[in-house]
Amino acid sequence: MKKHNFSAGPCILPQSVLKKASDAVLNFNNLDLSLIEISHRSKDFVDVMENARALSLEHLGLQNKGYKALFLQGGASLEFLMVAYNLLEKKAAYLNTGTWSDKAIKEAKLMGEIDVVASSKEQNFNFIPKNYKIPADADYFHCTSNNTIFGTQMHKFPETAVPFICDMSSDIFSRQLDFSKFDLIYAGAQKNMGPAGTTLVIIKEEILGKVSRTIPSMLDYKVHLSKDSMFNTPAVFPIYVSMLTLQWLKDLGGVSEIEKVNNVKAALLYNEIDRNDLFKGFVTNAEDRSKMNATFTLTAENRKEAFDLMCKDAGINGLNGHRSVGGYRASMYNALPLESVQVLVDVMKELERKG
Ligand SMILES: *Cc1c(COP(=O)(O)O)cnc(C)c1O
Repeated sequence: MKKHNFSAGPCILPQSVLKKASDAVLNFNNLDLSLIEISHRSKDFVDVMENARALSLEHLGLQNKGYKALFLQGGASLEFLMVAYNLLEKKAAYLNTGTWSDKAIKEAKLMGEIDVVASSKEQNFNFIPKNYKIPADADYFHCTSNNTIFGTQMHKFPETAVPFICDMSSDIFSRQLDFSKFDLIYAGAQKNMGPAGTTLVIIKEEILGKVSRTIPSMLDYKVHLSKDSMFNTPAVFPIYVSMLTLQWLKDLGGVSEIEKVNNVKAALLYNEIDRNDLFKGFVTNAEDRSKMNATFTLTAENRKEAFDLMCKDAGINGLNGHRSVGGYRASMYNALPLESVQVLVDVMKELERKG
């Protein structure tokens, strides 16, 4: 039996994508060659890269608006540094909403002054700060749209006159937003798009070329853009699988359709967390709750053994909370079926019934 996979990342991908990806490893495009043993400069792979880049922009409504998509390596973690390397001349503004924001701030400090405009660190990041001011003389503003570890998500974004950078690793392609508000968006593939090993970076080209430092080629967005994301050998397999997932999403009707399903899944689980006295949400402010990663705990620790066993018996995988939060975390990425959330909710109800 296939598991109900709530893993936070790497995480669930659509079954049909996994099947196509497996086939391509053995025989890609009927070439009688594997996807991973052909040249990345071959037409067959260049088509994959171009398709993946185009689909990314299409899903976000950013075609013909001065944006380009790149598939880079080094994970979202390398983007923490690359963003600052390419854009930070003097001072940048950061919103600190969790571990990943914190890490982005640490890397950016290597390149200049960082103004942390607001932080929820004092309360173990269980809410999203609001009503902060972004300095007009900052080179850019950076935030994390969804805090994978703590289970908070930004549902409103500030207006800002400076370039707007966002780490969307764990909620990209999950909901509709006016993405043209952002000047640079990055996302590690392994949360909602594909296998680990590639990072999608979407850049409005006009924001580049404004810092005075010399940028090493591999860290220079302009170098990668000038080579159409093929400056060096790209991560061919993760990019191919990402392309398949983006195609799967398009066939489903795109981001607007998956958002409806994501809303239903999140409502189903949060309603049960709120209704069932045996459970308590980690994020107190309901308006800050993440629709991708729901964090919660048991109100009675002595039920843990029973709950864990019932989850296991139901085929539930990946429900343990991150070590910095504890408790449980149910990650409900695009590929997780509603049925899996229903199974989890049924187990929660069953635990209550057992008394
Ligand atoms: C997982 C994650 C990261 C780190 O991604 P890597 O690809 O492992 O470097 C960064 N930001 C967010 C929001 C994440 O969820």
